[in-house]
Amino acid sequence: MPNWDPRAQKVLHTLRAAGHRAVLVGGCVRDSLLGIPPHDYDAATSALPDEIRAACSAFSCLDTGAKHGTVTVLSDGLPVEVTTFRRESGYSDHRRPDRVDFTSSLTEDLARRDFTINAMAWDENGLADPFQGREDLQKRLIRCVGDPDTRLEEDALRVIRGLRLAAQLRFSIHPDTAAAIRRHVPQLALVAQERICTEFTRLLCSPGAEEVLLAFPAAAAQIVPELAPAIGFDQRSPYHIYDVYTHSVKAMAHVPCLPALRLAALLHDVGKPTSFVLGEDGNGHFYGHEKAGVQLADAALRRLRLDNATREEVLFLIERHHLPVEASSKWAGRWLSRFGKERFFHLLALKKADGAACAPQPDAERQLDQAEKLAWELLQTSPCIRLNQLAVNGRDAMAAGLTGPAIGTALNFLLSRVAEGDLPNDRDVLLRELNPK
Ligand code: ATP
Ligand code: MG
Repeated sequence: MPNWDPRAQKVLHTLRAAGHRAVLVGGCVRDSLLGIPPHDYDAATSALPDEIRAACSAFSCLDTGAKHGTVTVLSDGLPVEVTTFRRESGYSDHRRPDRVDFTSSLTEDLARRDFTINAMAWDENGLADPFQGREDLQKRLIRCVGDPDTRLEEDALRVIRGLRLAAQLRFSIHPDTAAAIRRHVPQLALVAQERICTEFTRLLCSPGAEEVLLAFPAAAAQIVPELAPAIGFDQRSPYHIYDVYTHSVKAMAHVPCLPALRLAALLHDVGKPTSFVLGEDGNGHFYGHEKAGVQLADAALRRLRLDNATREEVLFLIERHHLPVEASSKWAGRWLSRFGKERFFHLLALKKADGAACAPQPDAERQLDQAEKLAWELLQTSPCIRLNQLAVNGRDAMAAGLTGPAIGTALNFLLSRVAEGDLPNDRDVLLRELNPK
């Protein structure tokens, strides 16, 4: 018996005490059978929305979607989404059902769910599993409930949910479901970009992202059309053992699972196909592909409605992914102080991943490792990489007669000299620099 959060169980007991059938369902059942602690709790019940609210009057209840029969019941701070058993039909827009009817049948409710591993319920008697979800969990398999083409036709979001779940759990996709996913990729165009963005970002930040993106390149190109020319694009270079798309996906798999880093790695070479020239040496060159890539990635990420802060970091990383590296403290100090610690290390992570997805270049790898080590050492010994750590400030600059933007310019100049080790972070020394005789 899984280890349910007692606060979720309290909601189920309350509904049952009022004479309703109440079960846990969906992701929490799937995850706990896999031994993963559930991150949210969904319950399904025979009670109608008004009956849920009446039975749970001792809790605070929020109407999450009363029309669809969902009430969020707060149990000692744990939100439990309680939804009336329902049957869905229609789906003429391939996004949501035209018709939702409440039903007293749990099996009907489970039948409307996307994948067998998401279509199991847990009630007092144990597991309700009419679609063999447990067997698929054991086989580590994503499989649609019922006919895959019909299910994906109903709701195109399931295409990307299926890929995301496969990447998240490192499951394979049943061949019939995989074939139907491939056929329905174009229908992703009907799904709201915000929803695609959420699922796609989750997919990228999942442990199995590489396998899924390599197996379903058309899905990636449907979501980010700017990637389409990269698929199969031969780089004509002895350093590159992969086409641009495969290289980008492999680079993505080498960076930590953070949205900005994973997106930056996936898109870092998106400007290559349009920047390609074949040199007289017979090798491909991609002059200025970083700038071209920034423009293409910007368009793609705006279309996906990615939040501004993440988009800006992605563009920052793409633009600088060819920054030359030196294994010196001076180099580390210069870029740490200009970029800030987080972006500096993210850029190093991207550069390492870029290298790891090419033919082996041991010298470049060693240099990056060394630069990273020196940066950490610098941070431990003389951590002055931000203006507010500098021994002089704006008042000192004003006292030295500087005004307006000249203040920032002077302080940033001093910061870079201190961070690079040319000057100590000593107030008297820096005041002398501000007030030259
Ligand atoms: P996670 O919470 O890890 O994202 P989940 O499977 O719990 O995974 P939710 O979005 O919380 O995902 O959805 C809860 C349940 O609702 C799913 O397990 C599934 O049974 C059902 N469900 C969600 N979205 C769909 C959909 N588009 N089509 C059919 N069923 C869905
Ligand atoms: Mg969930």
